[in-house]
Amino acid sequence: MGFLSVLSQAHKWIGERAGLGDVVIDATAGGGVDTLALAELVGRNGLVHALDIQQEALYRTRERLSAAGSLEQVRLHLLDHARMAEAVSPQHQGCVSAVMFNLGYLPGGDTSVITTPSTTIEALASALNLLKPGGIVTCVLYPGHSGGDTEALAVEAWAAGLPPAEGHAVLYRQPQRNTAPYLVAVEKRKR
Ligand code: SAH
Repeated sequence: MGFLSVLSQAHKWIGERAGLGDVVIDATAGGGVDTLALAELVGRNGLVHALDIQQEALYRTRERLSAAGSLEQVRLHLLDHARMAEAVSPQHQGCVSAVMFNLGYLPGGDTSVITTPSTTIEALASALNLLKPGGIVTCVLYPGHSGGDTEALAVEAWAAGLPPAEGHAVLYRQPQRNTAPYLVAVEKRKR
């Protein structure tokens, strides 16, 4: 058996730390594939906040969730993920189990709308803040496209510079393929 894809590995790590009834966030809804997996993970009594800055992405996500019968536990937000705290009610701040990022552009959409290092880093910091102790943030990086390479380095530097008292960071990467997507994950320090 080969190694898991970066996305499958992200879902595996999330599935080990989040479950039925939990609050989770998809910071880059895109086509809604990850939003749906998160909605199924937390179930009817859970809550998924899905964010995107493109209405087109939110339409696609709504369609996918609705077709799968899992829209009920999802809130869609047309919002920059740097402002994700605004989407989360005060009583859920510090209680979120997982925040998922899948960077880059919307496949089959407007490729000029891509995630950018400054808002991505701000969003990652906000995500860590919203997590409960032991919660996880995952971020799939795309060094193979223009702009994605500098963004990937910025995220890696952010993870490397995190004080261990805040979280524990890992990389999941194929060192023989330096343009392949890879994964950074941070587990918030358990109290
Ligand atoms: N690269 C992935 C898909 C990424 S989709 C793949 O190949 O499958 C990334 C999504 O992030 C897009 O829908 C885009 O609109 C969204 N996005 C870009 N900047 C954002 C921001 N600042 N806040 C929230 N979403 C953003």
